Amino acid sequence: MHALPIQQRIDWLFDLARRHAAEFSSPESFLARKRYLAEHPAAMLVLKCMDGRINIPIATNTPTGIIQPFRNRGGMFNLGWPHLGETLVDAVGKVVAQGRRVLVMITYHYSRGDPRRGCAGFNYDTEAARRHTEGIKAEVEAIFGRGHGTVYPLVCGFETDEDALVLHGDHSAALDMAAATTCRSALPPCCRTCPSGCAPTSCPRSTATSTTSPRCAPRRAPSTSSTANG
Ligand SMILES: [Zn+2]
Repeated sequence: MHALPIQQRIDWLFDLARRHAAEFSSPESFLARKRYLAEHPAAMLVLKCMDGRINIPIATNTPTGIIQPFRNRGGMFNLGWPHLGETLVDAVGKVVAQGRRVLVMITYHYSRGDPRRGCAGFNYDTEAARRHTEGIKAEVEAIFGRGHGTVYPLVCGFETDEDALVLHGDHSAALDMAAATTCRSALPPCCRTCPSGCAPTSCPRSTATSTTSPRCAPRRAPSTSSTANG
């Protein structure tokens, strides 16, 4: 792609946009969003780097159009910026008025395999990026409260080699979702994601000793990355 003439790259980009638009507006996608919101009423806002590799809907298998992204170089934000502050307060206000809570994911990104695949916005200094997200969390708490009853700020690392989130809690606690995914191999076979793209229709733990094949249901395949919905 990078070696093609500029016009062909532009055509490819417009074609990709058309395919995304067609998929997003399809009945299947519309119903998937409605169903997801009915099952998970909390809203999700994500502050992140403008790097196109950071695609939270893909990483979390969330239908596109659910997560509201805020992007900037390096994931650098200051909630004191007039337009950003107003936009965030407005977005939270609309959700809360509907009786919903809000998860604010504040992210930085890095590569486990090579620091140079990390965030150029922070000159590949992951610790500096992490410290910046902690500062944003403090700003969110200053605006929306420290009790987290309605607005819950969550600092997350995004490891781009595996598209895996690292969730940071208080007192240096962290949950590496890449490791959690690996642990699935210890589960009964029908607990794991089917290699053919299916997912179990029910918790199989009670039938783990069964010799019958697990029942699978078609699972929505991840779509091509879309930074607009990331
Ligand atoms: Zn970055």
